[in-house]
Amino acid sequence: MVLTPHPRPRPRPETSRQRTRPDTPQHRPDTIREQTRPDASQHRPDASDHRPDASEHRPDASEHRPWPEFGRRRIRFRISRHRKAALLASAVCVCLVAAAAPAEPLGVGDRLYPYLGNPGYDVASYDLSLTYPGANDKPLEAVTTIDAWTTARLERLNLDFGHGTVRSVEVDGRPAGFARAGEDLVVTPEHPLNRGDWTRITVRHTSDPVPGKDQQGGWVRTTDGLAMANQADAAHLVFPCNDHPSDKAMFTFRVSVPNGYTAVANGLSAGAERIGRTTTWTYRTRHPMATELAQVSIGRSAVARREGPHGLPLRDVVPAADRKALEPWLAKTPDQLAWMEKKVGRYPFETYGVLMAQASTGFELETQTLSLFEKRLFTEPAYPTWYIESIMVHELSHQWFGDSVTPRSWSDVWLNEGHATWYEALYAEETAKRPMEARMKAAYGASDRWREAGGPPARPKPPAPGQKIDIFRPNIYDGAALVLYALRQEIGRPAFERLERIWVRENRDATATTADFVRLASTVAGRDLGGFLEPWLYGEKTPPMPGHPDWKPAATARAATPHTRR
Ligand SMILES: [Zn+2]
Repeated sequence: MVLTPHPRPRPRPETSRQRTRPDTPQHRPDTIREQTRPDASQHRPDASDHRPDASEHRPDASEHRPWPEFGRRRIRFRISRHRKAALLASAVCVCLVAAAAPAEPLGVGDRLYPYLGNPGYDVASYDLSLTYPGANDKPLEAVTTIDAWTTARLERLNLDFGHGTVRSVEVDGRPAGFARAGEDLVVTPEHPLNRGDWTRITVRHTSDPVPGKDQQGGWVRTTDGLAMANQADAAHLVFPCNDHPSDKAMFTFRVSVPNGYTAVANGLSAGAERIGRTTTWTYRTRHPMATELAQVSIGRSAVARREGPHGLPLRDVVPAADRKALEPWLAKTPDQLAWMEKKVGRYPFETYGVLMAQASTGFELETQTLSLFEKRLFTEPAYPTWYIESIMVHELSHQWFGDSVTPRSWSDVWLNEGHATWYEALYAEETAKRPMEARMKAAYGASDRWREAGGPPARPKPPAPGQKIDIFRPNIYDGAALVLYALRQEIGRPAFERLERIWVRENRDATATTADFVRLASTVAGRDLGGFLEPWLYGEKTPPMPGHPDWKPAATARAATPHTRR
């Protein structure tokens, strides 16, 4: 995400979530979560390590076959006798607790968003059917189908869903009970789910583009339809989900719109079917995706197609009336892709493109394979060309850093923004003579103030009440790019560039943590960098910059980099 330097939404009062969720999970009484999840690490699923025998039981994710092949059957795993005994024992206490515990919101313990995500299951895929009524101030009718593995025995399970009406819920084809609790939808299946079950949850609901009181994010209403901006915690305002980046999944979107509208979503088209006055557009991702990166565009749009490096299909989505005027900007993407591939290696997804929306969001957003931009970024004469291009590269580089390699928790978000800012600045240096060193010197001057206001880059302060996207402060942008600059100064350019390439290759389609980055940096450099990086990532004060003993914190905000506005 990049914040563009025009007015942001005014601060709002405390949100309903904050009112209804006063406690962190640690402070709440024992719940089904604690009883059923003895191993905390299990509810931070990682596609690569978390699905027992996944390769034997699931179709090849990269092929993303249609639903019927997943089937409705339950797949059970061979469970050792020892494990069976343990499950039986835990089942007993679950029943006792479940009988007494009221429905309540749960989370996976994210330090910045404690109620995001839910324990006890790992989503494999989402299928979203959305029916747009032809007006963006009315709710869409929706069916969200979730296929998931359970990672604990569950008497009930929570989904994140904070806006819209729930009409019905089914689990494995059987009607299930449901209740709202904060921004969670608490589902009680007819029969408890065992650990290791393959389960399908179907929710019929509305998806309301008009924000609820004190809610931010999710649907973005454009002048001709809708787009989506879910970062960091707003996907669950659009559809029921496990709304935490640690649980990436495959997505299918089926968007029905009145003829004359165009719908585009993440991934590749799987066809458009016109029946009467309605056309249903289907898209599928070929790589797992975090819920925060979902994108659905509905509008009077033109889709501009071209080829990127080595035949990569590109498709941009722009207002049909502006197609010609915006073409010079769209034509820049192939070269930007080639530039990024030269820096870090092959583009990680099946397609790319920019979505230019007629909306005033105040930011651009790296939604997977289809980055969201405000159209005005490209039409406002006040922005210099080099600046617009560097912002395009910022969002493009997120496809590697943030989308393909996803932060395990929101405290790791500097891995997204620090790298995106790094390539944004590097592109400006190499193509527009805007030296990285000058920008980093200015960032160094401001860094102590940024750390004081927003926390150290890898331990950002929680968002202010009612300002959930306020974790996106300068400390994780130029403040974090400064950490990468310090690392490059310390280990040298060749090792740094090798590290970047290995990082995106080894963590492709997965999630990663700050500790993973420190570990890999040490491996690549051939020495332990923990002691060097710790104060850069977690210190209240900015350490001395290797190679620049003359760099000092600047006394006033006046000396700060002009990029602090983002
Ligand atoms: Zn960004």
